[in-house]
Amino acid sequence: MLAEKVPPKNSVLFVWLNNYAGVLLKTLTKTLLIDPADVKAKSLPKIDAILVTHEHYDHLDQQLIADIQKTNNCAVIADKTSAEKLKQLIPPTKLTPTTVGDKIKIGEVIVKVQKCRHQAATPVTYIITSEDNLKVWHTADTLPYPEMAQIGKAEQLDVVFCTVGIAQGTSPETGSEIAWLTKPKIAVPYHSNAVESQKKFQQILKKEQPKTTCLIPLINKPYQVTKGEKQT
Ligand SMILES: [Zn+2]
Repeated sequence: MLAEKVPPKNSVLFVWLNNYAGVLLKTLTKTLLIDPADVKAKSLPKIDAILVTHEHYDHLDQQLIADIQKTNNCAVIADKTSAEKLKQLIPPTKLTPTTVGDKIKIGEVIVKVQKCRHQAATPVTYIITSEDNLKVWHTADTLPYPEMAQIGKAEQLDVVFCTVGIAQGTSPETGSEIAWLTKPKIAVPYHSNAVESQKKFQQILKKEQPKTTCLIPLINKPYQVTKGEKQT
């Protein structure tokens, strides 16, 4: 079972689940599952909410999401196009279609919906703020965009996931530009099946942005991020 333990105070725990943007995020009281695809439902802990960023197959697996939702009776938050596709499978009281600018509460956890610059119908990204104010930006497949600088400054992000490949137009360079614009404490290169791309991202960060720690995640391994603690 993935990440059974609950993170201590002022911490979150995350697990990267596939070669894409699949992430399990545990806060003090909630477990969120973002863009599950190519994931074994049975390996998951109890889920409070599923978040979907866009309708591409590597982010939206309708049957898998329906299965996980049924098992956990959890909320499903999805961009409008994905929500439309999920309508037949998820009870209406459990399905929330979202759009840029929305702010959604999952208990004490806050999800802010942000823009996604990606060739999909209605893509979004999610900034998740934990009960103790740790902030994680799951940027899905987005390319960098100028407003990221302002968002980064306003939010003071702890963790930002940065796409380094597979998605159209993305590369270690576009990923590191996201890190440069948002200036998080920890930048996580993901959405790649090539460790060389993640290492390239790391090299760029080391040179251009030494204050941000690069964390290259292994798939299915839990990582704990604690406020005020340097990631090693
Ligand atoms: Zn993708």
